[in-house]
Amino acid sequence: MTRPFKTLDDMGDVAGKRVLVREDLNVPMAGGAVADDTRLRATLATVGELADRGAIVLVLAHFGRPKAPGPEFSLALVTKAYEQVLGRSVRFVDWGSAEAAIAMLSPGDIALLENTRFFPGEEKNDPQVVERFASLGELYVNDAFSAAHRAHASTEGLAHLLPAFAGRAMEAELDALAKALGSPEHPVAAVVGGAKVSSKLDVLRHLVAKVDHLIIGGGMANTFLAARGVNVGKSLCEHDLAPVADEIMAAAERAGCTVHLPYDVVVATEFRSDPPTRTVNVHEVAADEMILDVGPAAVEALGDVLKNCRTLVWNGPLGAFETTPFDRATVALARIAGALTVDGGLVSVAGGGDTVAALNHAGVADQFTFVSTAGGAFLEWMEGRELPGVAALTR
Ligand code: ADP
Ligand code: MG
Repeated sequence: MTRPFKTLDDMGDVAGKRVLVREDLNVPMAGGAVADDTRLRATLATVGELADRGAIVLVLAHFGRPKAPGPEFSLALVTKAYEQVLGRSVRFVDWGSAEAAIAMLSPGDIALLENTRFFPGEEKNDPQVVERFASLGELYVNDAFSAAHRAHASTEGLAHLLPAFAGRAMEAELDALAKALGSPEHPVAAVVGGAKVSSKLDVLRHLVAKVDHLIIGGGMANTFLAARGVNVGKSLCEHDLAPVADEIMAAAERAGCTVHLPYDVVVATEFRSDPPTRTVNVHEVAADEMILDVGPAAVEALGDVLKNCRTLVWNGPLGAFETTPFDRATVALARIAGALTVDGGLVSVAGGGDTVAALNHAGVADQFTFVSTAGGAFLEWMEGRELPGVAALTR
């Protein structure tokens, strides 16, 4: 596979070289301890490989949103958990004594540098901060896709001053995204769900020009249904966006993209766990009812659509999946997609905070080809935007 960026395979002999590795270590904390080490684990491939190859590994990361340096934003809080995840010792390095501490390191050592955001110029991509970081290393690896939508000193600027490479996690993410929307095998389906159309307008506009089938679910579907004259009762709905929904439908038609809206839905008059529900045609929603999930007949039809597709991108649940029984459509369609992927007929890529939670809830996250945990960066990619951190690697 030829890639528009260099990877660890292109670095040559790194033994004894100081390699700055940008990772995402912005883990959630609870009571002073790391509450979820998923992000720490995601760095293991790159950091482990470089250490094994004899590099002096200097990990760069931000932690929280500090207005000024303070102990509650220090990456020292993460060092112990990071050592446990890596199964190797990690030397925490404060900015005040960074040069001296780094000079003491040996090939194969791993250092965790203090929060990059302790420099006010980090988020401004200030050339002086870029130079300060660059002076500490000889090579630069960006392994933090989730921070690649930001042009910061440690995510973008460094790639201009040092030879730059994508880390293993970044490489896997970019490969998966290229397969899904870069040069995908057709037919391509996109599932876009979630709460609001307004948060995903640019995603929808980009996808209609790219995919063969656009499946709209969740609260967003209500706005599209209302724009077509359907009475959606008390459903979550952005009535003022009817013209935008019409514009997206028209753009889809011009591009030969089939838009799938649900024709049966699950409704309730109260939004809570296990309320009385009705499954009805979209034209039978009563004035006091809310649409909270896509109906089973629509899910079956959508499953048939997926069976004829080679590629799927998915962002956003089909219903209010956190509340039973409104998880049913999301779970059912996710299981169909997972099974088609395991059978080898479908490349499936999904992302988004709630989408990842929904796929985990359905028990199919590991059946998908790739599940991105990158949140904002994943959505910007779905909007077709160039991510500065990735662009800097592909120059
Ligand atoms: P993601 O984080 O994956 O991008 P979103 O944040 O856009 O997804 O949307 C997820 C939210 O949308 C969930 O909290 C879910 O409950 C809500 N949602 C989905 N369908 C409906 C609906 N019909 N009515 C109300 N909320 C819905
Ligand atoms: Mg969300």
